[in-house]
Amino acid sequence: MTAFWTEADFDDHELVQVVRDAKSGLTAIIALHSTHLGPGAGGTRFWHYADPSDAMRDALRLSRGMSYKNAMAGLPMGGGKAVILADKDKTKTPEMLAAFADAVDALGGRYVTAEDVGISEADMAAVAQRTQFVSGLPVEGEDAAGGDPGPFTALGIFLGIKAAVQHKLGKDSVEGVHVALQGTGSVGGGVARLLARDGAKLTLSDIHMDRAEALAAELGADTAAPDTIMSVACDVFSPNALGAILDDEGIARLDCQIVAGGANNQLKRPEHGPMLAKRGILYAPDYVINAGGIISVTLEYLCRNDQAPCDINEVRKRIALIPGRLEQIWQESDRTGASPDQVADRMAQELIGR
Ligand code: NAD
Repeated sequence: MTAFWTEADFDDHELVQVVRDAKSGLTAIIALHSTHLGPGAGGTRFWHYADPSDAMRDALRLSRGMSYKNAMAGLPMGGGKAVILADKDKTKTPEMLAAFADAVDALGGRYVTAEDVGISEADMAAVAQRTQFVSGLPVEGEDAAGGDPGPFTALGIFLGIKAAVQHKLGKDSVEGVHVALQGTGSVGGGVARLLARDGAKLTLSDIHMDRAEALAAELGADTAAPDTIMSVACDVFSPNALGAILDDEGIARLDCQIVAGGANNQLKRPEHGPMLAKRGILYAPDYVINAGGIISVTLEYLCRNDQAPCDINEVRKRIALIPGRLEQIWQESDRTGASPDQVADRMAQELIGR
């Protein structure tokens, strides 16, 4: 028998629960890394893992990631994550979701779930029929916190890019600053629009080039093929598509002064943060700059539970704190020689009492 809690990824999780419901065929893992700052919050992933131990590793890493992200976003939430182990055909039934919801409910609010890869809004609405411990539910009206997190994530990234440009290039505005954007979906597209409005020069790329080209035509931007966007000579490279792009090869290709974008888990391995710093490239730690969406989703939950104001201005107020947090990280990095990702991890650990 493998003792997973002796492995590094376990990192003193407060609770790891394996949920098995033979009747519906549900197998799930709920991992709670830290409830130091509040209930462990993080989405539910529905995924087929060839090796079930990969599901455990995913749950543990993602749950720790949520502890760091929520702490650095200044939210009164801890870190947690759930993984539902799907079969090869990714069969998902209402009975499975019901059994999962009951397991979340039985934790009495120590874990608050949300959507993640493989889980739709409709799935979460079904889960919410059986437990109140769900965030990220659809909201009505444009002035309420919650709803699609993409635009809020984009706003935080835009403000973070402006802060990076100020810190690294000494410029007060992004006017004329050249930004190469990878991924023009919900987040990347929003970032591009905000940058264009302020006069940035843009090069856009997407694996679906028609998407990038349509946006480029709208904004008067250039495009680059997906396999060349990382080597475009620019001021800022903004990754808004995939994770793990900052590896030995990716970092060697970069021809920029700043990396700042919304993709999760951009650094392939821990050594890639210091590698960027060694090349003189300023890095905005992903989970700090991309927290706009989680801020909105969490405020929707807190508002529903009478623990925070419901209006969108509260969301914007909290997103406006992202640049200051980044500046604090970069100053500490300049002072100590530790790379920004290392500084951010250390700050997050202190915030959660580790
Ligand atoms: P999305 O699916 O709307 O957009 C992703 C875009 O990237 C798509 O247009 C896709 O075609 C493109 N893409 C995929 N592979 C690519 C490649 N190799 N090269 C270029 N383009 C590629 O997703 P999104 O919501 O915009 O999220 C983008 C990233 O931001 C993801 O890593 C996500 O985890 C992260 N993120 C999103 C949010 C949010 O609020 N949506 C919050 C935090 C982090």
